[in-house]
Amino acid sequence: MIIKDLNVFPLSLPMKQSFRISGGTVGDKNQGAPHVYVNIVSEDGMEGWGEARPSHRWSYETLETVVSTIENYIKPAIVGKRADDLSSIHQFMDGEISSGISKGQPICKAAIDTALYDLIGRSSQKTLSELWFGKSMQCTPLSYLISTRDPNEAAEKARYAKENGFQGVDVKIGFQVEQDMEILEAVKAEVPDQFFRVDANQGYTLPDAIKAAKRMEQIGVDVFEQPLLANDLLGHREVRRKSFIPIALDESIWSPSDVLQAIRLEACDYAVIKLTKMGGFTGAKLAGEIAKEANLGLLGGGLTESTLGLTSSAHLFNYLEIKLPSDLNGPFFLEDDPIRNKGSIVNGSIMLPNGYGNGCEVDFKKLEKYKIQG
Ligand SMILES: [Mg+2]
Repeated sequence: MIIKDLNVFPLSLPMKQSFRISGGTVGDKNQGAPHVYVNIVSEDGMEGWGEARPSHRWSYETLETVVSTIENYIKPAIVGKRADDLSSIHQFMDGEISSGISKGQPICKAAIDTALYDLIGRSSQKTLSELWFGKSMQCTPLSYLISTRDPNEAAEKARYAKENGFQGVDVKIGFQVEQDMEILEAVKAEVPDQFFRVDANQGYTLPDAIKAAKRMEQIGVDVFEQPLLANDLLGHREVRRKSFIPIALDESIWSPSDVLQAIRLEACDYAVIKLTKMGGFTGAKLAGEIAKEANLGLLGGGLTESTLGLTSSAHLFNYLEIKLPSDLNGPFFLEDDPIRNKGSIVNGSIMLPNGYGNGCEVDFKKLEKYKIQG
């Protein structure tokens, strides 16, 4: 199966609401959300689709770098090569775009990797689970994202989560400890029995993180995610040693080797697996498998991908048997996207679509409608 062509579609998708984390706004309702769709065509006429969702707030990758890197460097390197030789494809991509301290431009490479898995699945008439000899896929439970600095609004969103069947909440903090704890207390009062995930997105200093973790023990938080800067693995180990709250690493883990470093340094209890941040299925699947073998807990997350990327992530989380509610929050922010058969969200879980590969069908009219011109 030889790659014949590759097409890149930079998109601006309409948003229901803006999305802000401690580092700044990652999606502005007035500007639309930056997404990149990639279409890879084989010589026998089969197609596969992948997605990148960059934001300069969570890494150095932008919509512009994803598009220019694929068009100017990756496309010339992989057209004419075997689509089902993923190991060589990654070597070609990494040869063109070298690593920094971790894999270079993983979000961009994830769009290629996931498109190729989709292509291979469709060509061989297998679902992604069947390609990996995994369990039959059913559904992935979701957590409900709460990102506000107003305790009343946080409580209102927590009530909505409970009423709509979500099995967990994911609360964004990382500003000021006292104000953040008021948010957590307001949420806990509404959803005392839900899985309670709290994410500081690197927003705290070490003393504040320890102080917050001790308060979270009293409040009843289940997991405290990424309190400190991404490169501060020893700081995260210190928080673990000084509190009973399990620590999850997200921004610190971009690759399987990052997971190994975190294990060696005993820096976390949970690893957050994100498909596009880890360069696609090849990296994210291995990162999840290593973390499982090391007896770490797994949490699923995403970068607000649209239905295409979200569905791919849900396939991976099913394969990795992630039982805790995942933070796949694209649908909370996007008004629409170019996928025709959206896997429906029922009782706070994503029901995966039927079909080979990742199962999504692209709506070409909408693809054209949301394409950034010029
Ligand atoms: Mg996170």
